[in-house]
Amino acid sequence: MKTFTVGSTTVAVIEDGSFFMAPDFLTGPVEPGTGERDEHGRACLPVLSFFVTGSSTVLVDAGLGPDPEGALRSIATPLGIDQQRMGLAGNAGLGPALAGCGVGYDAIDVVCISHLHADHMGWLVDVDGSPVFGNAEVLLPRGDYEYFVVGQLPQVPRAACDALRAMVESGRAELFDGEMAVSREVTAVPAPGHTPGHTIFAVTGDGERAMIAGDAMYCPAQLNELDVGGRHDIDPALARRTREMIAREAAEHRTRTVGGHFAGGCTARLIDGCVVIG
Ligand SMILES: [Zn+2]
Repeated sequence: MKTFTVGSTTVAVIEDGSFFMAPDFLTGPVEPGTGERDEHGRACLPVLSFFVTGSSTVLVDAGLGPDPEGALRSIATPLGIDQQRMGLAGNAGLGPALAGCGVGYDAIDVVCISHLHADHMGWLVDVDGSPVFGNAEVLLPRGDYEYFVVGQLPQVPRAACDALRAMVESGRAELFDGEMAVSREVTAVPAPGHTPGHTIFAVTGDGERAMIAGDAMYCPAQLNELDVGGRHDIDPALARRTREMIAREAAEHRTRTVGGHFAGGCTARLIDGCVVIG
């Protein structure tokens, strides 16, 4: 498992499966993966969660979950993406990876979600609808909750909608908006465009800073290819402004950036206008 540090804070990059994607899901000629393609020319992208160990244990995003095929289908079908263009490549690994970090689901203090697409919240509820993280404070972006759950859009399957609604109504999950401290080390920062409530998370430690960018960026090259977005961004102009904000921060502060699907779970910096991996 990959880890990186932000001062004395450690971030473990956890792969909870991966999927193949036709590379034209990006709006420009940017390589989304490592350059390797399957027989259909599709790139393989990991589904990443981030386990931050500091004054408390924080998990950013919750993977594909116990039904990874169903999770992918719930994203692909409403967008009209057929199976030739998107498919499951690898299965779930969040639980074993957390165990490798020495923690179980019940030891997570906070689970915060970048947006309510099924590949980012899969393990919030188990197949029987019960919460997976028994002791965690679960934080959901209000803009996405209102858009997908209250709006009953098919990107969040009905069973997941019902489970999220039950978690919110019982106080097991809280809705947030605006910039907000998640823990001493993690801050939620609004980053809309991909979805209405899309959020990125700044991790700080000892004067250093990193940015967990969710689906605001799919690959490091987008740090200096700001016109290249995701074809399925709900508000492309807003998504571009969000990429600008991330790139400005990366350039001015040499902030390390990692997205929810960066190939190999790599991090990237923008140094003198060049994208530097690591
Ligand atoms: Zn995603």
